[in-house]
Amino acid sequence: MNRRKVILTAASVAAGVILPTGGTAFGQAVSAATSMSQGGNVGGNVGYYRLNVGDISATVLSDGLIGGSPRIYASNAPEVELEEVLRQAFLPSDHLTLNLNTLLIETNGRRILLEAGAGQTMGPQGGRLFDNLAAIGLRPEDIDVVVVSHTHPDHVGNLRTVDGGKAFPRATVFVPRDDWNFFILSEPDLSYMPVPEDFRRNFAAAIRRSVEPVMNEIEFYEAGAEIVPGLTTLPALGHTPGMVNFLVHSGNDQLLLTADLAYHPIVNIDHSWLPGPDRDKDKALASRRRIFDMAAADRIPVLGFHFPFPGLGRMLKTDTGYAWVPANWQF
Ligand SMILES: [Zn+2]
Repeated sequence: MNRRKVILTAASVAAGVILPTGGTAFGQAVSAATSMSQGGNVGGNVGYYRLNVGDISATVLSDGLIGGSPRIYASNAPEVELEEVLRQAFLPSDHLTLNLNTLLIETNGRRILLEAGAGQTMGPQGGRLFDNLAAIGLRPEDIDVVVVSHTHPDHVGNLRTVDGGKAFPRATVFVPRDDWNFFILSEPDLSYMPVPEDFRRNFAAAIRRSVEPVMNEIEFYEAGAEIVPGLTTLPALGHTPGMVNFLVHSGNDQLLLTADLAYHPIVNIDHSWLPGPDRDKDKALASRRRIFDMAAADRIPVLGFHFPFPGLGRMLKTDTGYAWVPANWQF
């Protein structure tokens, strides 16, 4: 076989592999990316992952990535120990990458998105949600309900289109009341956040900008409320005044969404370091322990919003604390 033939064969094999995944979904992704002017997955790996919770079909939809100095997410870690833990996990010592794992659930004829995602409020690698919706054949107007666990920018950023409109034009948006009171109705004191002052100012402004298109039609809920049958909120206060966790349940099946109780399993589960952005660190720690204990005792499948995609696994109780056990990929 001559060299030219080898190259041609390789090229046609590559084309055969690439074209099927680059068909319909690719076309929709491109049109969504164009219409939303958001980032794209073009040429990258898939950013969605399907599972079932009893009769409820669920899909993890990635909105991409954010991140920052590991110190932000492990505020009380001794410097040398933190570096060593990151080194042993083959992670850089100067940047911790966080995922944005939103979850779409479909139940009783309604499509409910849990967390809106960051969009580009916290860096250029967010905003992939719309491409991933398109990849499963859905448009923003197909979403009936959006529920956010708390109002940090990486959870509400996608509520606003780049031109200031409603990104999910038909959706009812549910927000915990205590977060709204703190971040929107008052001038929030963010001095507890271990970031520069201009970061704090931009952070607060990004929250207001993100929710502005839906400002007058928010449905407020109290931590602990049931949003729809099969979707309950659990108080997980401390990270913010109103943060909740989500429990999706159907029959004997459950899925627990831990929001920002932990940012990355390595620093906040396998090691119990405290996230710097927790406003009330004692209260957040108590919430973390209560909910992690429940997840471990009841062996509940867990989805971590910021964990490595798709963010699914289980919590194991150990002699010294907890360990994160990622779920096996299923086709
Ligand atoms: Zn977050």
